[in-house]
Amino acid sequence: MKTFPMFLRMAGRRVVIAGGGEQAAQKARLVLKTEARLVLLAEALDDELSALVVAGRAEQDEGTPTPESFAGAALVFIATGCTERDAALAAMARAAGAVVNVVDQPELCDAFTPSIVDRDPLVVAIGTEGAAPVLARQVKTRMEEMLEPCLGEFVAMAGRMREAVARQVPARARRAFWRWAFSDAPRRLHATGAEREAAKVLKQAIAEGGAPGERGEGLISLVGAGPGARDLLTLRAVQRLQEADVIFYDRLVDPDVLELARRDAERVFVGKEVGACAWPQERIDAVIVAAARKGQRVVRLKSGDPGVFGRATEELAAARAHGLTVEIVPGVTAASAAGAAMGRSLTERGETDRLVLATGTCRDGDAAPDWGTICIPGTTLALYMGVRKACEIQHSLLAAGVPAASEVEIVCSVSTPQERHVACRLGALAATIAEQEVSNPAIIFVRYPKTRIEPLAATPPARLAAVG
Ligand code: SAH
Repeated sequence: MKTFPMFLRMAGRRVVIAGGGEQAAQKARLVLKTEARLVLLAEALDDELSALVVAGRAEQDEGTPTPESFAGAALVFIATGCTERDAALAAMARAAGAVVNVVDQPELCDAFTPSIVDRDPLVVAIGTEGAAPVLARQVKTRMEEMLEPCLGEFVAMAGRMREAVARQVPARARRAFWRWAFSDAPRRLHATGAEREAAKVLKQAIAEGGAPGERGEGLISLVGAGPGARDLLTLRAVQRLQEADVIFYDRLVDPDVLELARRDAERVFVGKEVGACAWPQERIDAVIVAAARKGQRVVRLKSGDPGVFGRATEELAAARAHGLTVEIVPGVTAASAAGAAMGRSLTERGETDRLVLATGTCRDGDAAPDWGTICIPGTTLALYMGVRKACEIQHSLLAAGVPAASEVEIVCSVSTPQERHVACRLGALAATIAEQEVSNPAIIFVRYPKTRIEPLAATPPARLAAVG
């Protein structure tokens, strides 16, 4: 290591920033996260910095810089925006004994500001000694995903309880207590907004002399994995994956997404190929319940949003029938992702003010949907599982009075490397699906606007095959 990472105590200490523009303001924002006394060494300040002075959060030193300006400072940042002036001031500050950081001039720096993940009092500082700033950003992004936004408040609360823990939890049980606090029910409750519950659970455990049981209660999370791309998962979904003991996942869940799970979590494929039900729903219900009853943290990972054509109702009911805690972690449903991929809004003021998510594949024996009431003027119809039923759907929609010229857009495997777009008119839906060999998973949009039926795009965007 050429540099040594340290956390400096800042309360009441002087930090000098030389400069009055945006670069100086960036450093000021950073310094003001601490309790340091900020001095702005500049004749003129921009609006943001002046406002800080007016608000009493910083003081301005307008004088000509002398070694005295820097004496006794805990840190000095030089950010005048003028290379020569920066170098001269840096030399002066260093001669006065200060630790100096010069913006964008690493060779003049005694100290570097790291990339910071701020969950105060938990602070993660990432540095690469200037070798790979982009990597530092990537690490930062991963950490931001891992650490829920409100974690700082939870850490602060835990900190306030340290004394009580030291008094009431015997030394041999303390480590387990904190492990439990930061990885189990208390943190989980806090992360989902139940701060009071989290505090209550912690206090109760302290009163009882330690963390409850070996592993705590089992929990089933029905987690939305989004349409495929792993950066379309929510932060909460990633957290559940990282806490999971066992993950039951679907056919449509991308392998990339599973990589977000803890390395030693068990992964069980419970995919259903259409028609071939190696894993009928009841069997899935039974295995997730059995795992949770063993006290395991269970993630049932489903493509898109668990609550959209995801058989979540059965799994919720099975869990509740056994008195197990079960939650849904929402995900980006295929229709949303496909809308984004098409670069258009699924609703359009005045034209389509209804968005209907419907499935083309109902339960065997159920009557076909009444498309006439579903697809009225002003509707964007997003059809899930519609490819195999395209012929029936096309004829039913036409019979229900939906114009044959209505725009249809089909998006296959949205957000994956296989993503494909096909456009046609409703009158040509089934033929297009056959000719273009459209395969699952695909979402079919039918636009039935109030007044205006768009002509098909003359020059289709890349990846978009237009068919008449
Ligand atoms: N719960 C999922 C839907 C599961 S039903 C969600 O909210 O998205 C399965 C159907 O979803 C597929 O037949 C297809 O219509 C659609 N689908 C799922 N993933 C898709 C993807 N990546 N691209 C296009 N359609 C997708």
